[in-house]
This record gives sequence, structure tokens and C-alpha cells, in this order.
Amino acid sequence: PESIPRRHDVRLPPDTTREAFDEAIRMLRQALGPENVVLNDQPLVDGWYLEHPNTHDAFHMVDQEDLVCSAVAYPGSTAEVQAVVRWANEYEIPIYPISIGRNVGYGGSAPRVPGSVVVDLGRRMNKILDIDAENASCVVEPGVSYFALYEEIQKRKLPLWIDTPDLGGGSVLGNAIDRGVGYTPMGDHFANHCGMEIVLPNGELLRTGMGALPGKGGADNPTWQSFQPAYGPYSDGVFSQSNFGIVCQMGFWLMHETDHQSYMITFARDEDFPDIVEAIRPLAQKRILGNIPQLRHVAQELNVTGLPKSHWYSGTSPIPRDVIRKHASQLPCGDCSWVFYGTQYGDEASIKTQLDTIKSAFAAIKGYKFFLPFDLPTDHYIHSRALVCSGVPVLRELDWLNWKPNAAHLFFSPITPTRAADAKVVHEINVRLHAKYGFDLFPTLCVAGREMHYIANIIYDRSSASEKRRAAGLMRELIAEAAREGYGEYRTHILFADQVAKTYGWNNGALMRFNETIKDALDPNGILAPGRNGIWPRKYRGKGWEL
Ligand code: ADP
Repeated sequence: PESIPRRHDVRLPPDTTREAFDEAIRMLRQALGPENVVLNDQPLVDGWYLEHPNTHDAFHMVDQEDLVCSAVAYPGSTAEVQAVVRWANEYEIPIYPISIGRNVGYGGSAPRVPGSVVVDLGRRMNKILDIDAENASCVVEPGVSYFALYEEIQKRKLPLWIDTPDLGGGSVLGNAIDRGVGYTPMGDHFANHCGMEIVLPNGELLRTGMGALPGKGGADNPTWQSFQPAYGPYSDGVFSQSNFGIVCQMGFWLMHETDHQSYMITFARDEDFPDIVEAIRPLAQKRILGNIPQLRHVAQELNVTGLPKSHWYSGTSPIPRDVIRKHASQLPCGDCSWVFYGTQYGDEASIKTQLDTIKSAFAAIKGYKFFLPFDLPTDHYIHSRALVCSGVPVLRELDWLNWKPNAAHLFFSPITPTRAADAKVVHEINVRLHAKYGFDLFPTLCVAGREMHYIANIIYDRSSASEKRRAAGLMRELIAEAAREGYGEYRTHILFADQVAKTYGWNNGALMRFNETIKDALDPNGILAPGRNGIWPRKYRGKGWEL
């Protein structure tokens, strides 16, 4: 249902009259040029991934008009970002920076406080500032997508790879500061950044890492993209998943092109799950697993074909296990339980040695089967996996959204140690609660060394208010149950940020009190993304904003 007339006029920032707002907007237009400040007063259009809105959350969990901005500002330079920040302080209007805003499943481009002014950095600040082939690194502005960086490296014919997440349209910088992941050996995006340039909430400009040391004659520091921590406290971390600054430039390490081999392993029985995790642990810790492999339940093999749920099952309840089994036995994966997608890197001989080690580790699990891409049909999902795992951005993962009419998705993403006992607890909570709330369970475990990101993709129909409420209910109970067992999320949708932040409450909420101390020192007027990641500035605390 696109383009329904708006029920409400422009959503004003909190405690702001229409007159004060209009005057503030007039001043902002003077600073940025009238064409670079746009009121959010037109019908809201959810669009789709490549034509995503910056007016609201396209995957709305609540009413479409609930999480909206009052206006969007498009700064064209760091100096203009500073001007926006000074303006926000003067008029005490909250601002919400986004890079590209394709943070689908986590709130998209919507501000946590309705009526905030969204600062869309990506529209005009979208330059690749540097690609240093010798250092194998780059420096980008917020608007550089994975596709854009990939294409530029191809154009320059450099033997370098980027690391892309499942979908390639997002911002390289935005994804990294939200601590997103990809799938090559450099899949931890924040861990592979090097150096930032940040506008602080008071308008001051900061460079972190070696960038703090001025280069000769005013040049950028020559080691800015070589050494991460520099000297003194390593401050970069506090600018990830926070609301302490607006990142305007960020350096990233690039990977050297190499031979690679993707593969798929299937396991026979659902009950093999603990054995699979135990077999993965040493392989992961010893870094024999070359990238961030994924372990997925076979239910996803149905989903990644891009066919709708109705193709497989006519009921409205979650697809029963025996129906999944019946269909899977007709697919290349066969009647199996768990599917492991991995990729190995290096020269041919070392890839062979690695694969032999991996096969012998899994051989103990009865009924496991090993597939190479050429064993599988050309439209099989493994081929898009192989691209992602060699740094080529794709859009295949959008196929998830064919599952239901008006589909949107939400991620429940707890972290579990790579250990059967822990992974089982997390998985069983998911099995039980997905059944209780009537949602199909689509778990993907992204394996880093000692931990796995357990990512459950909750697909809901956004045209149904009751289904949205059900999905939110599922999410809240998942967060609470997992936390009771000691497991926490690495990232969440803006609406669940307060709940997740509260679960990290050791010693009477010492971590949040620490965050609030920093927030209040850097942002005394509370203008920058209030509530982002559960961090509320003093002005908002205890006034009923927390959800
Ligand atoms: P994507 O990278 O998928 O396009 P976004 O641009 O929406 O995603 O970024 C994800 C989230 O990270 C935003 O909602 C915002 O809270 C935060 N963010 C993004 N870019 C910046 C930035 N340059 N400075 C500060 N916070 C940012």
C-alpha cells in the first residue's frame, strides 16, 4: 500500500512550536542552500532496497508515520556538517545522521526521536577520497556504497578486494560504525577500519588514530591508514554504535586478491547441531576456516530460491518440519538439517590442504555431504555466496523478501560462544519462541573465531498491524529470555535499543552510566541522535522516552 495520504502534518521535534521550527528551518536553508533542506510533508513511500526512503523506516514495525523525521538536510562537506551541528545546538533540535540509510532490519534511516532532522550525509558526501594500492587501504566519505568502492577498484584494475555484507548497496562507513559484518577474512568491518574524521556534537573536528598527528606541511598523516590505535586511549570504539559524533571520513584496509574456493556442506539430522558446532570450534580458532562461514538451517534453502512461502506450503502457520523435509529432498541440498557455507583462500595447494582438514573434522558426523559450486546448478545460492566471499557485492539476499506479501524483516542477533552447550541454549530459545509467536525460524550462524553471531531473520507482513505487534512481541521475549541465560545482542533495531542496552546492566548499569557520562560531556544539549543504542542525553532521561 504505497503513497497513502499523510494523516499527520510535519512531525515537529519535541518541545518545538511550528513557528520556532519554521524559523529554524529558514536558518538551516540559509546555511546549506534552500535545495538542501527538504521538509518531510509528502506521502511516505516505502520504495524498495535501491529506492529506499530517508523519511521513515521502510520496514516499519510500528505505524508507518510513527518513526518519521521532520526534515532532511543534505550537507555537502565536513564544514557544512559542522554548520548543521551548530545550528542544532542553537535551536535545540535533535539531528540524526545517516550515511546511506540502507540499514534495513535495524531501523533504516528513521530517527529514534520522531521529528528529528535527518542529516543525510551520503547524498552529497560520496567521494572515495583515496585508494592507496601500496598500503592496500582506502579512505571514504559516508555516501560510498560497497558497489561504488568495488567498481572503482575494478576501474583502476587493482588486485584488491573489498569486504561486502550480504547486500552491497549500504554505506561502507555506515555499516562499519554500526559494526556490521561481511564474509571474507576481513569480515569484521570495524576491526578493519583505520582512522576516522569526526564532527563532535559541539561542532569541533577530531581525527583519531595517527590522523591526530599533523602530516608534514599540513598533509594528512602518512601512517593514518597504517596503524589503528596511535597513542593514548584508543578512542575509535566509542564512535561505533553510539551517538557521540558524526563520522565524515573513515579509512579501511583492503584485502589482496587471492585464489579462493567456496563450498557447501550438508548435515543429515537436526540433532547433529551440537556436534557440528564442536567440530567448527577448533577449525575457527585455528583460523583454518578462511572467512566468516555461515551455518544455516535447511529451512533457508527453501527461502533463498526466491520463491514465496505459498509455493511450498499453503498454511499460515510456520512451515512444519516434515514439509521442509519433503521439499528439501527435491532440492540440490537433499533431505538434510543444517547447511554450512564456507570459503577457503590461498594458493591451490594450500586450499586443498585446508579442505582436507575441514572434511576430516566433519567426517565424524554421520551423513555429511560436501559440494563444490560446480556440483550445483547455476542458479543455486552458492554462486552468490561465492561472490560475496570474494568481495563482490550482490543483491541476491533481497530474495528473502519474496517470502511473504509486503514482507519486511527484523533481525534477532545474539552472540554465542562457539561451543555446543551455549549455541544449543540460544537455538532452543529461538525454536520455542518462534513457534509460540507463529513465525518461521530462519537462523544463520556467522562464525568468527571464538563466537558466532546467531542471526534469526524474522520476516513479517508490514501491512498487518497485528502481525507487526506479534513480531515485536517475539523480539522482546527473545531478548529477555536470551539475557536471562547470559546472552546478548550485538546490534538491534532502534525500537529495541533500550531493552537490549538494559540487558548489559552488570554492576547496576555501570556501562550505561559510563556512556551517559561521555554523552553529557560531549553533547550537553542532547542534539545528536538521542536514544541511539539506548544512550539518552540528560535532557531526555527519565521523561518516558525509553521503550
Ligand atoms: P547503511 O550503511 O546500511 O546505508 P546507515 O547509513 O543507515 O546504513 O547507517 C546505519 C546507522 O549508523 C545509522 O542509522 C546511524 O545511526 C549510524 N550512522 C550512519 N552513518 C553515520 C555517520 N556518518 N556518523 C554517525 N553515525 C552514523
